[in-house]
Amino acid sequence: MTDCIGYAAKDVSAPLSPFSFHRRDLGSEDVQIDILYCGVCHSDLHRIDNDWNNTIYPLVPGHEIVGKVASIGEKVKRYKVGDLIGVGTIIDSCQQCQSCKRGEENYCEEGPTSTYNAKDKKTGEVTRGGYANTIVVTEKFVYAVPKSLDPAGVAPLLCAGITTYSSLKHWNVQKGQKVGIVGIGGLGHIALKIAHAMGAHVVAITTTLEKTQEALRLGAQEVLLSTDAQAMQSHAATFDFILSTVPTTHDINPYIQLLKTNATLTVVGALGTVATGINGRELATRRRSIAGSYIGGVAETQEMLAFCAKHNITSDIELIKIQDINEALERMKKGDVRYRFVIDMESLKR
Ligand SMILES: [Zn+2]
Ligand SMILES: [Zn+2]
Repeated sequence: MTDCIGYAAKDVSAPLSPFSFHRRDLGSEDVQIDILYCGVCHSDLHRIDNDWNNTIYPLVPGHEIVGKVASIGEKVKRYKVGDLIGVGTIIDSCQQCQSCKRGEENYCEEGPTSTYNAKDKKTGEVTRGGYANTIVVTEKFVYAVPKSLDPAGVAPLLCAGITTYSSLKHWNVQKGQKVGIVGIGGLGHIALKIAHAMGAHVVAITTTLEKTQEALRLGAQEVLLSTDAQAMQSHAATFDFILSTVPTTHDINPYIQLLKTNATLTVVGALGTVATGINGRELATRRRSIAGSYIGGVAETQEMLAFCAKHNITSDIELIKIQDINEALERMKKGDVRYRFVIDMESLKR
Protein backbone atom coordinates (compact mmCIF):
# COMPACT_ATOMS: atom_id res chain seq x y z
CA MET A 1 0.00 0.00 0.00
CA THR A 2 1.08 3.54 -0.73
CA ASP A 3 0.55 6.17 1.98
CA CYS A 4 -1.24 9.19 0.66
CA ILE A 5 -2.42 12.54 1.96
CA GLY A 6 -5.13 14.69 0.48
CA TYR A 7 -8.25 16.69 1.20
CA ALA A 8 -11.62 15.02 1.64
CA ALA A 9 -15.25 15.87 2.21
CA LYS A 10 -16.02 13.70 5.23
CA ASP A 11 -19.78 14.13 4.99
CA VAL A 12 -22.30 16.15 3.06
CA SER A 13 -22.24 19.25 5.24
CA ALA A 14 -18.56 19.34 6.21
CA PRO A 15 -15.91 21.49 4.52
CA LEU A 16 -13.01 19.67 2.87
CA SER A 17 -10.20 18.93 5.33
CA PRO A 18 -6.90 17.00 5.46
CA PHE A 19 -7.25 13.24 5.09
CA SER A 20 -4.76 10.34 5.16
CA PHE A 21 -5.47 7.18 3.15
CA HIS A 22 -3.80 4.47 1.05
CA ARG A 23 -3.50 3.83 -2.67
CA ARG A 24 -3.26 0.29 -4.02
CA ASP A 25 0.16 -1.32 -4.39
CA LEU A 26 1.86 -0.56 -7.68
CA GLY A 27 0.81 -3.31 -10.13
CA SER A 28 2.93 -4.45 -13.07
CA GLU A 29 1.01 -2.17 -15.48
CA ASP A 30 0.58 0.75 -13.09
CA VAL A 31 2.28 4.09 -12.81
CA GLN A 32 2.50 6.04 -9.59
CA ILE A 33 2.20 9.76 -10.12
CA ASP A 34 3.32 12.64 -7.90
CA ILE A 35 0.48 15.08 -8.44
CA LEU A 36 1.53 18.64 -9.32
CA TYR A 37 -1.82 20.17 -10.27
CA CYS A 38 -5.48 19.23 -10.04
CA GLY A 39 -8.34 21.17 -11.59
CA VAL A 40 -11.56 21.85 -9.69
CA CYS A 41 -14.44 20.68 -11.89
CA HIS A 42 -18.05 21.67 -11.39
CA SER A 43 -18.90 17.99 -10.97
CA ASP A 44 -16.58 17.89 -7.91
CA LEU A 45 -19.02 20.35 -6.36
CA HIS A 46 -22.02 18.18 -7.31
CA ARG A 47 -20.33 15.15 -5.72
CA ILE A 48 -19.24 16.97 -2.55
CA ASP A 49 -22.84 18.18 -2.10
CA ASN A 50 -24.23 14.70 -2.95
CA ASP A 51 -26.40 16.22 -5.69
CA TRP A 52 -26.52 12.88 -7.54
CA ASN A 53 -27.35 10.89 -4.35
CA ASN A 54 -24.45 8.46 -4.68
CA THR A 55 -21.51 10.12 -2.97
CA ILE A 56 -19.40 7.81 -0.80
CA TYR A 57 -17.79 9.72 2.08
CA PRO A 58 -15.02 10.42 2.84
CA LEU A 59 -14.78 11.76 -0.73
CA VAL A 60 -11.45 12.82 -2.24
CA PRO A 61 -12.49 14.67 -5.44
CA GLY A 62 -10.39 15.62 -8.45
CA HIS A 63 -10.23 14.28 -12.00
CA GLU A 64 -8.13 16.84 -13.84
CA ILE A 65 -4.71 15.67 -12.76
CA VAL A 66 -1.24 16.56 -14.03
CA GLY A 67 1.86 15.17 -12.38
CA LYS A 68 5.20 13.44 -12.76
CA VAL A 69 5.77 9.72 -12.92
CA ALA A 70 7.29 8.67 -9.58
CA SER A 71 7.56 4.92 -10.21
CA ILE A 72 6.44 2.34 -12.77
CA GLY A 73 5.46 -1.34 -12.77
CA GLU A 74 7.71 -3.80 -14.62
CA LYS A 75 5.40 -4.10 -17.66
CA VAL A 76 4.94 -0.35 -18.21
CA LYS A 77 6.19 0.57 -21.69
CA ARG A 78 5.10 4.06 -22.57
CA TYR A 79 6.25 6.07 -19.56
CA LYS A 80 9.38 6.43 -17.49
CA VAL A 81 10.11 8.05 -14.15
CA GLY A 82 10.02 11.83 -14.44
CA ASP A 83 7.62 12.03 -17.42
CA LEU A 84 4.90 14.67 -17.25
CA ILE A 85 1.56 12.91 -17.53
CA GLY A 86 -2.14 13.45 -16.98
CA VAL A 87 -5.12 11.54 -15.61
CA GLY A 88 -8.71 12.42 -16.46
CA THR A 89 -12.15 11.39 -15.31
CA ILE A 90 -11.87 7.61 -15.88
CA ILE A 91 -9.11 5.21 -14.81
CA ASP A 92 -10.39 1.82 -16.00
CA SER A 93 -13.01 0.03 -18.10
CA CYS A 94 -13.89 -3.59 -18.96
CA GLN A 95 -11.70 -3.62 -22.13
CA GLN A 96 -14.01 -6.32 -23.59
CA CYS A 97 -17.26 -4.69 -24.70
CA GLN A 98 -17.99 -3.19 -28.12
CA SER A 99 -17.49 0.37 -26.86
CA CYS A 100 -14.12 -0.45 -25.29
CA LYS A 101 -13.03 -2.28 -28.46
CA ARG A 102 -13.94 0.81 -30.50
CA GLY A 103 -11.76 2.91 -28.19
CA GLU A 104 -14.79 4.53 -26.55
CA GLU A 105 -13.93 3.46 -23.00
CA ASN A 106 -16.03 6.41 -21.80
CA TYR A 107 -19.10 4.51 -23.06
CA CYS A 108 -18.01 1.12 -21.63
CA GLU A 109 -21.14 -1.01 -21.34
CA GLU A 110 -20.19 -2.06 -17.80
CA GLY A 111 -19.57 1.58 -17.00
CA PRO A 112 -16.04 3.00 -16.91
CA THR A 113 -14.39 3.33 -13.50
CA SER A 114 -14.49 6.95 -12.39
CA THR A 115 -11.30 8.46 -11.01
CA TYR A 116 -13.06 9.00 -7.70
CA ASN A 117 -16.23 7.81 -5.94
CA ALA A 118 -16.27 4.47 -7.82
CA LYS A 119 -15.29 0.89 -7.10
CA ASP A 120 -11.73 0.01 -8.18
CA LYS A 121 -12.02 -3.15 -10.36
CA LYS A 122 -8.61 -4.31 -9.13
CA THR A 123 -9.15 -4.00 -5.37
CA GLY A 124 -12.86 -3.45 -4.81
CA GLU A 125 -12.00 -0.33 -2.83
CA VAL A 126 -13.44 3.13 -3.40
CA THR A 127 -11.43 5.22 -5.85
CA ARG A 128 -10.11 8.55 -4.63
CA GLY A 129 -9.24 11.51 -6.81
CA GLY A 130 -6.56 14.08 -7.37
CA TYR A 131 -6.92 16.43 -4.40
CA ALA A 132 -3.95 14.48 -3.05
CA ASN A 133 -0.18 14.13 -3.27
CA THR A 134 -0.04 10.91 -5.28
CA ILE A 135 -2.18 8.46 -7.30
CA VAL A 136 -1.71 4.98 -8.80
CA VAL A 137 -3.27 4.43 -12.25
CA THR A 138 -2.95 1.73 -14.90
CA GLU A 139 -0.75 2.89 -17.80
CA LYS A 140 -3.60 2.52 -20.30
CA PHE A 141 -5.53 5.42 -18.71
CA VAL A 142 -2.66 7.88 -18.45
CA TYR A 143 -1.82 10.59 -21.00
CA ALA A 144 1.44 12.16 -22.09
CA VAL A 145 1.26 15.92 -21.45
CA PRO A 146 2.71 18.08 -24.26
CA LYS A 147 5.83 19.86 -23.03
CA SER A 148 4.98 23.09 -24.85
CA LEU A 149 1.90 23.80 -22.72
CA ASP A 150 1.67 25.19 -19.17
CA PRO A 151 1.00 22.06 -17.06
CA ALA A 152 -1.39 23.85 -14.66
CA GLY A 153 -3.47 25.05 -17.63
CA VAL A 154 -3.45 21.53 -19.11
CA ALA A 155 -5.13 19.96 -16.05
CA PRO A 156 -8.68 21.17 -16.91
CA LEU A 157 -8.27 19.90 -20.48
CA LEU A 158 -8.50 16.37 -19.06
CA CYS A 159 -12.19 16.84 -18.29
CA ALA A 160 -13.45 20.15 -19.70
CA GLY A 161 -11.21 19.93 -22.77
CA ILE A 162 -12.02 16.38 -23.81
CA THR A 163 -15.74 16.81 -23.08
CA THR A 164 -16.02 19.70 -25.50
CA TYR A 165 -13.47 18.44 -28.07
CA SER A 166 -15.16 15.03 -28.35
CA SER A 167 -18.60 16.48 -29.02
CA LEU A 168 -17.38 19.13 -31.47
CA LYS A 169 -15.55 16.37 -33.32
CA HIS A 170 -18.32 13.78 -33.20
CA TRP A 171 -20.79 16.25 -34.73
CA ASN A 172 -18.20 17.01 -37.35
CA VAL A 173 -17.67 20.71 -36.78
CA GLN A 174 -15.95 22.08 -39.86
CA LYS A 175 -14.30 25.20 -41.10
CA GLY A 176 -16.87 27.86 -41.95
CA GLN A 177 -19.76 26.33 -40.02
CA LYS A 178 -21.74 28.43 -37.59
CA VAL A 179 -21.34 26.93 -34.13
CA GLY A 180 -22.98 28.15 -30.93
CA ILE A 181 -21.46 27.67 -27.49
CA VAL A 182 -23.96 28.17 -24.66
CA GLY A 183 -22.37 29.30 -21.38
CA ILE A 184 -18.92 30.85 -20.89
CA GLY A 185 -17.61 28.97 -17.85
CA GLY A 186 -15.17 26.13 -17.24
CA LEU A 187 -16.32 24.04 -20.20
CA GLY A 188 -17.60 26.89 -22.34
CA HIS A 189 -14.42 28.97 -22.38
CA ILE A 190 -12.43 25.95 -23.62
CA ALA A 191 -15.15 25.08 -26.14
CA LEU A 192 -14.84 28.60 -27.60
CA LYS A 193 -11.09 28.11 -28.06
CA ILE A 194 -11.39 24.62 -29.56
CA ALA A 195 -14.28 25.44 -31.93
CA HIS A 196 -12.37 28.52 -33.09
CA ALA A 197 -9.25 26.41 -33.70
CA MET A 198 -11.38 23.98 -35.74
CA GLY A 199 -12.14 26.91 -38.06
CA ALA A 200 -15.80 27.39 -37.17
CA HIS A 201 -17.60 30.71 -37.06
CA VAL A 202 -18.13 30.67 -33.30
CA VAL A 203 -21.02 32.42 -31.57
CA ALA A 204 -20.98 32.63 -27.75
CA ILE A 205 -24.54 32.41 -26.46
CA THR A 206 -24.85 33.95 -23.00
CA THR A 207 -27.26 35.60 -20.60
CA THR A 208 -24.54 37.97 -19.40
CA LEU A 209 -23.83 41.04 -21.54
CA GLU A 210 -20.71 41.77 -19.43
CA LYS A 211 -19.07 38.62 -20.80
CA THR A 212 -19.00 39.97 -24.38
CA GLN A 213 -15.38 41.15 -24.44
CA GLU A 214 -14.20 37.97 -22.73
CA ALA A 215 -16.05 35.77 -25.22
CA LEU A 216 -14.47 37.62 -28.14
CA ARG A 217 -11.03 37.25 -26.56
CA LEU A 218 -11.59 33.51 -26.08
CA GLY A 219 -12.42 32.84 -29.73
CA ALA A 220 -16.01 33.89 -30.44
CA GLN A 221 -16.64 35.97 -33.57
CA GLU A 222 -20.06 37.04 -32.28
CA VAL A 223 -21.90 37.14 -28.99
CA LEU A 224 -25.63 36.40 -28.86
CA LEU A 225 -27.53 37.51 -25.78
CA SER A 226 -30.11 34.80 -25.19
CA THR A 227 -32.32 37.20 -23.22
CA ASP A 228 -32.66 39.48 -26.28
CA ALA A 229 -35.69 38.07 -28.13
CA GLN A 230 -35.07 40.13 -31.26
CA ALA A 231 -31.44 39.03 -31.52
CA MET A 232 -32.46 35.40 -30.97
CA GLN A 233 -35.05 35.73 -33.76
CA SER A 234 -32.51 37.20 -36.15
CA HIS A 235 -30.30 34.07 -35.65
CA ALA A 236 -33.21 31.60 -36.05
CA ALA A 237 -32.44 28.46 -38.08
CA THR A 238 -28.85 29.51 -38.86
CA PHE A 239 -26.68 27.27 -36.63
CA ASP A 240 -24.98 24.08 -37.84
CA PHE A 241 -24.32 22.90 -34.29
CA ILE A 242 -24.89 24.16 -30.74
CA LEU A 243 -23.09 22.92 -27.63
CA SER A 244 -24.63 23.67 -24.24
CA THR A 245 -21.98 23.75 -21.52
CA VAL A 246 -24.11 25.12 -18.66
CA PRO A 247 -23.43 22.86 -15.63
CA THR A 248 -26.83 23.17 -13.95
CA THR A 249 -30.48 22.67 -14.92
CA HIS A 250 -31.36 25.17 -17.64
CA ASP A 251 -34.04 25.61 -20.30
CA ILE A 252 -32.71 24.48 -23.68
CA ASN A 253 -35.91 25.37 -25.55
CA PRO A 254 -34.73 28.83 -26.68
CA TYR A 255 -31.72 27.28 -28.46
CA ILE A 256 -33.67 24.70 -30.49
CA GLN A 257 -35.14 27.28 -32.86
CA LEU A 258 -31.61 28.52 -33.61
CA LEU A 259 -30.72 25.22 -35.33
CA LYS A 260 -30.75 24.76 -39.11
CA THR A 261 -32.51 21.77 -40.68
CA ASN A 262 -30.77 18.51 -39.61
CA ALA A 263 -28.65 20.30 -37.00
CA THR A 264 -28.01 19.12 -33.42
CA LEU A 265 -28.01 20.70 -29.99
CA THR A 266 -25.74 18.72 -27.67
CA VAL A 267 -25.80 19.02 -23.89
CA VAL A 268 -22.54 18.28 -22.06
CA GLY A 269 -22.65 20.36 -18.89
CA ALA A 270 -25.88 19.48 -17.10
CA LEU A 271 -26.11 15.83 -16.07
CA GLY A 272 -29.37 16.23 -14.14
CA THR A 273 -32.73 17.41 -15.54
CA VAL A 274 -32.14 19.42 -18.70
CA ALA A 275 -35.51 20.72 -19.82
CA THR A 276 -39.21 20.05 -19.78
CA GLY A 277 -41.82 21.07 -22.30
CA ILE A 278 -39.77 20.57 -25.45
CA ASN A 279 -41.88 21.41 -28.49
CA GLY A 280 -42.00 18.42 -30.87
CA ARG A 281 -42.98 20.63 -33.79
CA GLU A 282 -39.79 22.68 -33.38
CA LEU A 283 -37.79 19.45 -33.67
CA ALA A 284 -39.85 17.67 -36.36
CA THR A 285 -40.30 20.45 -38.89
CA ARG A 286 -36.55 20.81 -39.34
CA ARG A 287 -35.48 17.30 -38.33
CA ARG A 288 -33.49 18.80 -35.47
CA SER A 289 -31.81 16.60 -32.84
CA ILE A 290 -31.10 17.00 -29.15
CA ALA A 291 -28.19 14.91 -27.88
CA GLY A 292 -25.79 14.35 -25.02
CA SER A 293 -22.08 13.50 -24.91
CA TYR A 294 -19.85 12.28 -22.09
CA ILE A 295 -16.09 13.02 -21.94
CA GLY A 296 -14.06 10.98 -24.50
CA GLY A 297 -12.10 7.77 -25.00
CA VAL A 298 -8.43 7.19 -24.19
CA ALA A 299 -7.06 7.62 -27.73
CA GLU A 300 -9.27 10.63 -28.32
CA THR A 301 -8.06 12.27 -25.10
CA GLN A 302 -4.45 11.93 -26.24
CA GLU A 303 -5.51 13.31 -29.65
CA MET A 304 -7.20 16.29 -27.92
CA LEU A 305 -3.96 17.09 -26.06
CA ALA A 306 -2.06 17.05 -29.36
CA PHE A 307 -4.69 19.32 -30.92
CA CYS A 308 -4.38 21.73 -27.98
CA ALA A 309 -0.58 21.70 -28.25
CA LYS A 310 -0.79 22.45 -31.98
CA HIS A 311 -3.15 25.39 -31.38
CA ASN A 312 -1.56 26.46 -28.08
CA ILE A 313 -4.78 25.96 -26.11
CA THR A 314 -4.90 25.68 -22.32
CA SER A 315 -7.53 26.55 -19.77
CA ASP A 316 -7.57 30.03 -18.25
CA ILE A 317 -7.01 29.30 -14.59
CA GLU A 318 -6.81 30.71 -11.08
CA LEU A 319 -4.11 28.78 -9.25
CA ILE A 320 -5.00 28.16 -5.59
CA LYS A 321 -3.52 26.47 -2.53
CA ILE A 322 -5.29 23.37 -1.25
CA GLN A 323 -5.94 25.23 2.01
CA ASP A 324 -8.17 27.64 0.03
CA ILE A 325 -10.30 24.93 -1.57
CA ASN A 326 -13.45 25.58 0.47
CA GLU A 327 -13.44 29.27 -0.40
CA ALA A 328 -12.87 28.36 -4.06
CA LEU A 329 -15.84 25.97 -4.03
CA GLU A 330 -18.05 28.71 -2.56
CA ARG A 331 -16.94 31.10 -5.31
CA MET A 332 -17.55 28.45 -7.96
CA LYS A 333 -21.14 28.01 -6.73
CA LYS A 334 -21.68 31.66 -7.58
CA GLY A 335 -19.97 31.34 -10.98
CA ASP A 336 -17.14 33.55 -9.69
CA VAL A 337 -14.08 31.96 -11.36
CA ARG A 338 -12.02 32.88 -14.45
CA TYR A 339 -12.40 30.10 -15.64
CA ARG A 340 -11.14 27.13 -13.70
CA PHE A 341 -9.57 26.80 -10.27
CA VAL A 342 -6.48 24.62 -10.30
CA ILE A 343 -4.91 23.44 -7.06
CA ASP A 344 -1.12 23.77 -6.78
CA MET A 345 -0.41 20.52 -4.95
CA GLU A 346 2.91 21.81 -3.70
CA SER A 347 0.78 23.60 -1.07
CA LEU A 348 -0.20 20.24 0.42
CA LYS A 349 3.34 19.79 1.76
CA ARG A 350 2.92 22.61 4.27
ZN1 LIG B 1 -15.04 17.14 -14.62
ZN1 LIG C 1 -16.19 -1.91 -21.76
